[in-house]
Amino acid sequence: MTAAAARSTELKPEHFDVLIVGAGVSGVGAAYHMRTQMPEASYVVLEAQETFGGTWHTHKYPGIRSDSDLYTFGYRFKPWLGDPIAKGEKILAYMGEVIQENDLARHIRYRHKITGASWSSETCLWTVTARRGDTGEEVRFTTNFMWMCQGYYRHDQGYTPQWAGMDTFKGPIVHPQTWPKDVDLKGKRVVVIGSGATAATLVPSIADEVAHVTMLQRSPTYFSPGRNADELADTLRALKIDPSWIHEIVRRQRLYLGSVFTKRAFTHAEEVRKEMLGVVKASLPEGFDVDKHFTPSYLPWRQRIAFVPDGDLFKAIHAGKASVVTDEIDRFVEDGILLKSGETLHADVIVSATGFDLSVLGDIPFEVDGAPVDFSQTVTWRGMTFTGVPNLAWVFGYFRASWTLRVDIMADFIIRLLKHMRAKGVAKVTTELRPEERDMERLPWMDPDNFNPGYLMRSMHLMPKRGAKDEWGHTQDYWREKDELPAIDLDDSVFHYAKPTAAVAAPQPRKTEDA
Ligand SMILES: Cc1cc2nc3c(=O)[nH]c(=O)nc-3n(C[C@H](O)[C@H](O)[C@H](O)COP(=O)(O)OP(=O)(O)OC[C@H]3O[C@@H](n4cnc5c(N)ncnc54)[C@H](O)[C@@H]3O)c2cc1C
Repeated sequence: MTAAAARSTELKPEHFDVLIVGAGVSGVGAAYHMRTQMPEASYVVLEAQETFGGTWHTHKYPGIRSDSDLYTFGYRFKPWLGDPIAKGEKILAYMGEVIQENDLARHIRYRHKITGASWSSETCLWTVTARRGDTGEEVRFTTNFMWMCQGYYRHDQGYTPQWAGMDTFKGPIVHPQTWPKDVDLKGKRVVVIGSGATAATLVPSIADEVAHVTMLQRSPTYFSPGRNADELADTLRALKIDPSWIHEIVRRQRLYLGSVFTKRAFTHAEEVRKEMLGVVKASLPEGFDVDKHFTPSYLPWRQRIAFVPDGDLFKAIHAGKASVVTDEIDRFVEDGILLKSGETLHADVIVSATGFDLSVLGDIPFEVDGAPVDFSQTVTWRGMTFTGVPNLAWVFGYFRASWTLRVDIMADFIIRLLKHMRAKGVAKVTTELRPEERDMERLPWMDPDNFNPGYLMRSMHLMPKRGAKDEWGHTQDYWREKDELPAIDLDDSVFHYAKPTAAVAAPQPRKTEDA
């Protein structure tokens, strides 16, 4: 143990009623809801990085932008005033305004990476350790409730498959998640491996600067090109309607259209597929091999669909600045990539837009009453809580709708639960299988036939299990959850409440102003 760590274990931990992990879009939203819905409680946000933003701070590759619209990716409580698809810096500015307008900064501790969390049923408290990035010191906190907003992937490094011959390639190999400041693309031949939202953003963003950019994919992805504007929002703005009304109206319209699309993607998959491919075909040059390069083997909505604002990816292809190759990598060679077809793609720079590594609850080692928690052995209740793990909820957003929609509705639910516990005079809650559910089949977190992105498929075995009943899984269905969550009976037999088993004095919560 270091001297700093030894000193910190001697110090009395700071106590907060609620401890929010992460200051990304989920953590900042959680802090806002604590402040507005439960001002009587104390809370702190611990964030490993030096500032807020999470995903939007970590990713700095050229063109970084949302792939869903900001009317629904924005919070329900703060109107979005810009174009529907927004650049990373605009999203950060929006989050910065939420922090500033609601005086949240004093509740956030940056450079605090949580390294462990241990629950005691004697005291009904979590003891949380964090390492400070600035001093290296280990600090401790106690809290009644852990509000997990740490996202779903590792922030320090992206996922790069290991290909033969990578060390022989003479140029840089970069990952968009750790984009180097000094990488020079001017006049270079660039190959971007992958065809997800990141590749579709990067390719048009660098197309004018480079000699040529090739998007190399093993298999095609669905894209949805369209104008980066919202007609309804523009009309309402022209009518000088209040921005908060515009936000609400446009949100409702987009959510309604989203629900219609999602339903159709399941009930009329073939029809939707044809329509989507038709739009893509119309955006590409005459004679372009759409079947080969833009016709996915899976049905629509089994992976996120990337919106292509103003068709910029297709414009770059039209201009001859970008091309698509659908093939498999045999090996990296000195000046590029040798493909299984025998062709060599010559490159000066290779970008591996191959996704990320899933992280289960921030890779934090958790203990409950001295026993390590293996989340893969737990069953999730509504993709929020986990059997046997008290006083903890994970904000895992939506994939087929904007992530943030769940940030708001989960906050309503968590705060309702916390208030209910106070009213009942209890300090512990777990969600447990009812006796008749104990033999229920345990299934993977997501049904791979329903949603199957690579990062989930690679790490599904580490994720908590789903049960055969919808209630025991993350339905990914905002339209159901928005009505179901507020109606949940908090005295249902799924909730197990308890008081501390030891007679201990309750820790003095810090006053909210002190955080
Ligand atoms: C490039 C990209 C684009 C995306 N675009 C969209 C989109 O358009 N629409 C959409 O709905 N979704 C999108 N997503 C998904 C996106 O990640 C979520 O929408 C959302 O930003 C996640 O927010 P979050 O706060 O839950 O997690 P994150 O943004 O991942 O933030 C988590 C924070 O927790 C911190 N943290 C993690 N572990 C610890 C720890 N142990 N101690 C302390 N702090 C910790 C991290 O440092 C980070 O700041 C995108 C994802 C990526 C990668």
